[in-house]
Amino acid sequence: MTDIRNIVVLTGAGISAESGIDTFRDAGGLWEQHRVEDVATPEGFAKDPDLVLGFYDMRREALTKVEPNDAHQALARLEREFSGELLIVTQNVDDLHERGGADNVLHMHGELKSALCTSCGTRSAWDAPMLNRPACPVCQAPTLRPDVVWFGEMPYQMERIYAALRSADLFVSIGTSGAVYPAAGFVRDAREMGAATLELNLERSEGSYWFHESRQGKASELVPEWVDEVLGD
Ligand code: NAD
Repeated sequence: MTDIRNIVVLTGAGISAESGIDTFRDAGGLWEQHRVEDVATPEGFAKDPDLVLGFYDMRREALTKVEPNDAHQALARLEREFSGELLIVTQNVDDLHERGGADNVLHMHGELKSALCTSCGTRSAWDAPMLNRPACPVCQAPTLRPDVVWFGEMPYQMERIYAALRSADLFVSIGTSGAVYPAAGFVRDAREMGAATLELNLERSEGSYWFHESRQGKASELVPEWVDEVLGD
């Protein structure tokens, strides 16, 4: 793989599954026993803000009980040792890539440990509950919401992602079902712009057809193996 100079990696809930964080799929379309429409849409938040704030408070709290796994650590190693360009784009709102040692992770769907003020629009690092309506650190209004991109909202940094996809010669998708757009379309975009495409997932995803190569297995095994290949170990 010595000719690979630009890699874009996309990760989804599957990379964190072995750390003990439920994916949508494993829970049968539910997220930790809740319907996605109730806890991951602006309409759900408008209808029952306490349910939604409490749900993300629990998700944030749950991060203290999980650890990054070998897949997160292998990607951090790739970031440290790869001599070309690497962009890790994650759909995950957990902090396991960072705790696994990666420095430069683009959270396109936001982060549990960030708050978005609906009054002043500021995003602030956040590690406390929101159900009790704390004040925004910037404007003091008690109007914080989880800084998580819900269904129907625009993901973060799409221009930067598409710029990286345009120059990528390898696009790798890890632990994602290929059901949530626009991320599910990245493989097609990358391929049309000339990149080789590889899927590492427990099972063939919905978008599997678009990948040049698809490997099935656990992320904690497939990702370290693939990183060894790229680094020539
Ligand atoms: P998804 O739940 O739709 O799909 C997860 C995929 O991972 C499935 O295809 C499954 O087969 C695969 N998988 C499960 N265990 C695996 C393992 N051990 N190794 C490799 N693959 C494995 O998740 P998605 O595609 O990321 O989309 C769901 C959305 O839900 C995302 O937008 C994300 O923001 C949100 N979400 C995030 C988290 C998190 O932050 N950890 C958890 C659940 C949902």
